[in-house]
Amino acid sequence: MTSTAWHDRAAGLTFDGRSVIDGQRCATLSGQTFAKCSPVHGRLLGPVARGQPEDIDRAVRSARAAFADGRWSRQAPAARKAVLQRWAELITAHRDELALLETLDMGKPIQFSRTVDVPATACCIAWYGEAIDKLYDEVAPTGAHALALITREPMGVIGAIVPWNYPMIMAAWKLGPALASGNSVVLKPSEKSPYTALRLAELALQAGLPQGVLNVVPGFGHEAGEALARHAEVDAIGFTGSTRVGRRMLNYAAESNLKRVYNELGGKSAFIVFDDVKDLEKAARTAAACVFFNQGESCNAPTRVLVHESLMDDALACMQQEAGGWQAGDPLDERTRLGAMVDEGQLHTVLRYVDQGLGEGATLAHGGRQTRADTGGHYVEPTILSNAHNGMKVAREEIFGPVLTLIPFRTEAEAIALANDSPYGLQASIWSGQIDRVHRVARALQAGTVHVNQYDEDDITVPFGGVKQSGNGRDKSLHAFDKYTELKTTWLRIEA
Ligand code: NAD
Repeated sequence: MTSTAWHDRAAGLTFDGRSVIDGQRCATLSGQTFAKCSPVHGRLLGPVARGQPEDIDRAVRSARAAFADGRWSRQAPAARKAVLQRWAELITAHRDELALLETLDMGKPIQFSRTVDVPATACCIAWYGEAIDKLYDEVAPTGAHALALITREPMGVIGAIVPWNYPMIMAAWKLGPALASGNSVVLKPSEKSPYTALRLAELALQAGLPQGVLNVVPGFGHEAGEALARHAEVDAIGFTGSTRVGRRMLNYAAESNLKRVYNELGGKSAFIVFDDVKDLEKAARTAAACVFFNQGESCNAPTRVLVHESLMDDALACMQQEAGGWQAGDPLDERTRLGAMVDEGQLHTVLRYVDQGLGEGATLAHGGRQTRADTGGHYVEPTILSNAHNGMKVAREEIFGPVLTLIPFRTEAEAIALANDSPYGLQASIWSGQIDRVHRVARALQAGTVHVNQYDEDDITVPFGGVKQSGNGRDKSLHAFDKYTELKTTWLRIEA
């Protein structure tokens, strides 16, 4: 579609920001709302329910009642599978609408909302639905006098609190395994991107998910988020967001009912290009593209690019060339690859970090400025900081913008030490043509995922999550079921 056609569709779109509780759209009990503007052009999209503790309480009680009466939790896995598959089909059928809502809500280009976010969301829901009737429980190897069953049971009510950078995908990574295994969920989307989560809940109802099983309450973190994480009737929190708020999740649990807390947090992933790399241009361009993708608002963006000093000039030239293809544009134009930053605050955070990097001695090798200010939206140029070192703020802290930091190294041991010298441990990448080196370095890296001669090619079949301050849980793959189920041992005596 042309950008004019997308803008026309956007003008006719409905933005319903009311909560979904007990199967119904509803305003907050106090009537409070907040204004949600689009980062694409700065204009108001609509009022959104500003969930308060009493709204969260209502949603949790609805979820608890649904869990207790078994309307979903005691359905046969095959029946739950059928609902999740119908839901995934509806998500696919509403692809353009969901993509448009996502783009207008948080600024990412429509081409990626359509080809990445919506398909990945549908795939995730369908995949967990498909998996759930193929999981068997266990019989322990006891003596002849006993039969010991080890069974998995749903936990009860799951609180899911998610960020704004991939609103639908992050929600799906919680909802897929949590719902497939029979739990009820209260989802709090980010205040910066509430619309698609609400629409997903409506589609779930249409697919046959019983009322009360999935409730969505928008609102701010310190209000709705905190109330959900502290609620005594919530059995586990699946959180994705910043390390700062992840710490709070652990406190809330400690101070309330010791609910399980699964944190998927920030990252500052290292991308290491060794002097025996087979294709330097591919490595350099991949690094840049993965930093600029989603406006750099990706937890796993490889923002610390470590390049052997002998290759630095050539690598930088390739990255600058790649950056030329990522100029910020209208997110509703299908040719645009770099959209709007999520809000004005995030734009200024990025600009501040660039200034700090330059103040600490880095060189501005590309971009670094605000752009398209006349649109009323929040755009920044793809940016490369070269001549950086690992002690700089831009190398230590998560910027969450399209800013690549280029750091030289001399030896393999130095590269490993630099990569691991970070409070985070989400992902890493090794570019080398030597198989021994690849395995040696992969084993030494402190990261949840190590990519080799590629970046970000993983899919729903493998776990996603980090070590150190990048979190403690794993989304995706069958391992995600561990977060939302409890093991029960049932020991039966067999009389002779
Ligand atoms: P954030 O931590 O500010 O907010 C995340 C969610 O927590 C939002 O819904 C927010 O409203 C809520 N929240 C904020 N303060 C809260 C509080 N005091 N109590 C309860 N809830 C609260 O993060 P963000 O800015 O929305 O997202 C960006 C962060 O998410 C980055 O750090 C990024 O690395 C991380 N992230 C991690 C992964 C992963 O899988 N590891 C994936 C995507 C994003």
